Amino acid sequence: MGTMELIDQHGRVATDLRVSLTDRCNLRCQYCMPAEGLEWMPTEETLSDDELIRLISIGVEHLGVTDVRFTGGEPLLRKGLPGIIAATKALPGSPRTAMTSNGLGLKRTAKALADAGLDRVNISLDTIDPEVFERITRRNRWQDVADGLAAAKEAGLGPVKVNAVLLRGHNDTEGPALLQWCMDHDYELRIIEQMPLDAQHGWNREAMITAEETLTLLSETFRLTPLAGRGSAPAEKFLVDDGPHTVGIIGSVTRPFCGDCNRVRLTADGQIMNCLFAREESDLRAALRGGASDTEISKRWAAAMMTKLPGHGINDPSFLQSDRPMSAIGG
Ligand code: SAM
Repeated sequence: MGTMELIDQHGRVATDLRVSLTDRCNLRCQYCMPAEGLEWMPTEETLSDDELIRLISIGVEHLGVTDVRFTGGEPLLRKGLPGIIAATKALPGSPRTAMTSNGLGLKRTAKALADAGLDRVNISLDTIDPEVFERITRRNRWQDVADGLAAAKEAGLGPVKVNAVLLRGHNDTEGPALLQWCMDHDYELRIIEQMPLDAQHGWNREAMITAEETLTLLSETFRLTPLAGRGSAPAEKFLVDDGPHTVGIIGSVTRPFCGDCNRVRLTADGQIMNCLFAREESDLRAALRGGASDTEISKRWAAAMMTKLPGHGINDPSFLQSDRPMSAIGG
């Protein structure tokens, strides 16, 4: 078959595939999951490694996917991760591979993942204070994340990016210290606005720390110069002082970037979501397990893009939060 593309009705073409490898996680970040965790996806509903690899290969070989990011839940909890990365990297065109992870255990696995073909990582770390970390994530694991970050840099998984969410009353004044720490370690900090994606549906617009507020706070300590050439990247980048370090601000709520979106998501149970905030999913698992050909699956996937809305709609009065939390979509 010829190559199709994942184009939507608004002319956007998705080339960046975010693959969730599991909905499970070993942290319980307050803005993501309740303390007791969630009811995890049943094993029989979760795609096997071979099924995942088949769908990724259809994306790359038939639908124009050039970038594959592994996420979750926590992708490092997926046993077959090195094999999934290696199979992805071996596809025609050698897609760029990345992983979004909390970094727990990465100290032991970073080198093997790099050897398997992983190019880059984004590690989530909201604070440089271990006590604040424990309050936010409900786990005493700050040092493990710091070790994971160091191992990622050592293994060449760079530029190593750090994702942080600021929460009022917890780490809201920490932006400058976190940025300084990241620059000292040669990590690229990106501060993400808190989004209505938590399983508890506890997001509150008034409590959210806006991109504007973050920029104001950072500007009290650093001189920030906006950098041009953002393209479809979620982060607005700023040069810090005279460089070479930069900081990224992801204003998903107050400065949406949906018009340039090039992303599509595959959940661990084989559903295509054309947006992080989509309320409809398209079931590729049923097609796959029902014996569909690559062509049939490609057509179903391409059709799923047609309902992609022009924007995420968080700011519309009629916005409804999806029943599927971030941990089960893949951030
Ligand atoms: N477990 C991995 C990790 O920690 O990076 C991957 C999945 S996690 C859902 C991906 C990213 O989403 C993390 O950086 C996390 O901080 C962020 N995140 C989770 N819930 C969020 C929310 N409600 N708003 C903004 N970012 C959120």
